[in-house]
Amino acid sequence: MTEKEAGAVWTLAEQFEGKLKGVSFELLSRGRKLADKLGTSLASVLIGDGVGDGDLDRLIKQGADAVYTVQDPKLAYFVCETYERVLEKLIKDYKPAILLAAATSTGRTLMPYTAVKVHTGLTADCTELDIEEGTGNLLQTRPAIGGNIMATIKTPNHRPQLATVRPKSSRPLPPDPNRSGKITRIPFDPSFVPAQGVEVKGYRREESSLHLEEADLVVSGGKGLKKGENFAAVHKLAESLGAAVGASRDAVDRGWISYPHQVGLSGKTISPKVYIAIGISGAIQHLAGIKTSETIVSINIDPDAALHKLADLGIVGDAFQVIPELQKRLDARAKHGGNHG
Ligand SMILES: Cc1cc2nc3c(=O)[nH]c(=O)nc-3n(C[C@H](O)[C@H](O)[C@H](O)COP(=O)(O)OP(=O)(O)OC[C@H]3O[C@@H](n4cnc5c(N)ncnc54)[C@H](O)[C@@H]3O)c2cc1C
Repeated sequence: MTEKEAGAVWTLAEQFEGKLKGVSFELLSRGRKLADKLGTSLASVLIGDGVGDGDLDRLIKQGADAVYTVQDPKLAYFVCETYERVLEKLIKDYKPAILLAAATSTGRTLMPYTAVKVHTGLTADCTELDIEEGTGNLLQTRPAIGGNIMATIKTPNHRPQLATVRPKSSRPLPPDPNRSGKITRIPFDPSFVPAQGVEVKGYRREESSLHLEEADLVVSGGKGLKKGENFAAVHKLAESLGAAVGASRDAVDRGWISYPHQVGLSGKTISPKVYIAIGISGAIQHLAGIKTSETIVSINIDPDAALHKLADLGIVGDAFQVIPELQKRLDARAKHGGNHG
C-alpha cells in the first residue's frame, strides 16, 4: 500500500451478470469532487464476476484513479455476508477515508452490515456530500424528520466514513480518453464465503418495477386525476409516447396505482429525458424524486402550482381536456406513420 492509497475516497461499483450498472458511474462524479477537495485519490471497488478490463477501464475514464476488483463465480450474485467479507478485507488492507455506495438494494443491505463489522458510522440516502474545511470530515446531508429539514451528519472519530447516495441523483462524468489509472485484481479467497451461507439459485425480474428508473420518458399522475379509473388515460398516453407510468404519493395512497410507480422522497428517484406530471402539485417530497430530469412538463389547472414554477413547460389547464387533446394528436400522428416526439 502506498501513502497515496491510504485516506483515499472509494466508490462501490455494481455489476449484474458481468455488466457494470449505471450507478457505478454516477457515484464516481460525486467521489471525484470529494477526492479533489481532499487532495487524495479516487478508487472504485468492484466485487462480482465476469467484468473485463475494458469495462473496468471505463471506471477510470469516467473519474477513478484506481480500480480494486475481486472476481469469482462465487461472487457473481450479491450475497451480503460474502460481499462484506471481501469489502472488509479491502478496507483493512487499503484504509480508505470515505466509501460511497448507491442506495440500491445492494448498497442498502451491504453498507449497514459493513459499518457494524468495521465499527464505523453510515449515513443513508444522502442528497449532498461535501468536505468540511479544516477537518477534512465528510459532510453528509440528507432529509430528516419526514423530509421537513435537511440534516448534515459527520463521522469524526471513525474511518472509513460510509454514505449511500440515491441512484439518479447525480450525472456521470463524460468519459475522458486521456485519463489513465491502475486496475488491481485481488485474488478471491475461499474463506470469503461463510460456511453456512446463502446460495443464490437465480434471479427473476419483478414485472411491476417497470423500469421506471431507466425510462427516458415518464408520465405521472396525481390527485388532480380525481379517481383511480382516470389513470387509464395516463396509461394510454404513456403507451402512445413509449413512456413509463409514475405517480405521486397521494395517488398511490388512494390505491389508484401501486407503490412501485411512486416517484419522490419515499418512492423512486428518476432522471428521465422528459418528465410529464399531470395533476401533481409539486410538493417538496415529490420534487426530490424528479429534479435531475432533463425537461419537466407540468399539466395543472392551478397557475400557481409549485411544479409549474420548476417546469420547463407549464400547461395551465384541466387534465380532462388536455389529456384527450394530446391523445388525439398522438393517435393522428401514429395513424399517419409519425414518430414519437
Ligand atoms: C415523509 C414524506 C414522504 C413523502 N414522499 C412522497 C413521495 O415519495 N412522492 C410524492 O409524490 N409525495 C410524497 N409525499 C407527499 C407530498 O407531501 C404530497 O402530499 C403529495 O406529493 C401530493 O400529491 P399530489 O400532487 O398528487 O396531490 P395534491 O398536492 O393534492 O395536488 C393535486 C394537484 O392537482 C391539481 N388539479 C386538480 N384538478 C385538476 C385538473 N382537473 N386538471 C389538472 N390539475 C388538477 C391541483 O391544482 C393540485 O395542484 C411525502 C410526504 C411526506 C411527509
